[in-house]
Amino acid sequence: MAKFKEECGLFGIFNHPEAANLTYLGLHALQHRGQEGAGIVSSDEIKLYTEKGIGLVSDIFSKEKIDKLQGNSAIGHVRYSTAGSSDLANTQPIYVTSSMGKMAIAHNGNLTNANKLKKHLEQNGAIFQTDSDTEVIIHLIAKSKKKSFLDRIIFALKKCEGAYSLLFLMKDMIIAARDPRGFRPLVLGTIKNSYVLASETCAFDLVEAETLREIKAGEIVTINEKGISSCSPLENQNKKAFCIFEHIYFSRPDSYVFGSSVYMTRKQLGRQLAKEHPIKADYVIPVPDSGVASAIGYSEESRIPLELGLLRNHYVGRTFIEPQQNIRNFGVKLKLNSIKEVLNKKKVIVIDDSIVRGTTCRKIIKMIKDAGATEVHVRISSPPTKDSCYYGIDTPDKSDLIANDLSVEQIRRYILADSLGYLSLRGLRNSVQKFSKYNVKNNYCVACFTSKYPTEIESR
Ligand code: AMP
Repeated sequence: MAKFKEECGLFGIFNHPEAANLTYLGLHALQHRGQEGAGIVSSDEIKLYTEKGIGLVSDIFSKEKIDKLQGNSAIGHVRYSTAGSSDLANTQPIYVTSSMGKMAIAHNGNLTNANKLKKHLEQNGAIFQTDSDTEVIIHLIAKSKKKSFLDRIIFALKKCEGAYSLLFLMKDMIIAARDPRGFRPLVLGTIKNSYVLASETCAFDLVEAETLREIKAGEIVTINEKGISSCSPLENQNKKAFCIFEHIYFSRPDSYVFGSSVYMTRKQLGRQLAKEHPIKADYVIPVPDSGVASAIGYSEESRIPLELGLLRNHYVGRTFIEPQQNIRNFGVKLKLNSIKEVLNKKKVIVIDDSIVRGTTCRKIIKMIKDAGATEVHVRISSPPTKDSCYYGIDTPDKSDLIANDLSVEQIRRYILADSLGYLSLRGLRNSVQKFSKYNVKNNYCVACFTSKYPTEIESR
């Protein structure tokens, strides 16, 4: 079974003559959510068509491939997963033929009881083709004795624990579902007479769709020729657990997730950081791109000018996310370079969103000092990352997280910073609330900072 470490993005569209083309564009806008593989399945109401590949969306889909994806409805998926399960078989949407007809499924998140469910299914004769937890959902749907697809999906999802934002494509409908805690985002929009679905609103902007609303936590939405209908059979008394890391790092700043602007929230994290950890310096320097929005906030609050002391080469995948270990050794240099003119003989405050293993931060600080900076003060716009994510963000094992066993002072020494300050959990929660339409402060999953998981984790 796959380790609980997958990052993904979803896009779907119902009833549009350019369904495959728009899905391709939507996936392109969601590329930051996964760079390892992508797929699109379309439907012309008679047949389902599928194209998948390894790599970036723009490399996988040629015009010829998109032309093969016929019909007015489609769903698509971008994914990253840890080594071992990066083959084509694990690339989604997964496409199956069942007694109910053909179906494709795309999943963002991770089930936390997948091993248990899989064992049970195998004991009852199921044969698995992939090591992805998404296949468990397919087997549960196939096993259900219910008559309609919707009821079968409800049957399956009632057995699943953990994080799932899902899109299902059948020949004449799309079904979208979100787990009752709402770990991962999923939004609904329209383009003229068509409905669209996406992990983030930035995909809607590109295809010129209008955002209608979020799919609610625990909600299942069916879209077919009759229009749209909704039910909430998965809703329960559990508190919501929206992933706070979507705001800190994962979502694109031009998106709205969980009811608020990612950019405004991220900037507020920087403002709050400046209040919690002030220091005198010549410049505020963002680590591009992850630290930019919070560095603007820090600079505005502290009135210390923002300067670009680091430049990013965008044509390299995220070093963190490269499956091959050997590229990590020089990954930072491939990705970032310093601007000596800015840094020489200056005291600087360097802002990033998080420290995971600590290796990137250490190399960045060395680069800044090599460029002549006299003092480097590091400020991080989230609390220390102490534990792994089991709900769909790729974090290393707990033992590889620098904050798991080192104190802030020990981390400061390791990364060679003159001072180090992390945002407090309280400051983070308040900042996220500030730009939200809803009362969400205590509705976030913060397990990577507190180790308090909202669900049971079966294989730790
Ligand atoms: P590290 O060297 O492991 O401490 O890497 C820290 C860097 O990784 C920071 O610049 C973060 O912006 C970035 N980062 C944090 N979480 C993730 C993630 N899930 N995927 C990719 N990059 C990440």
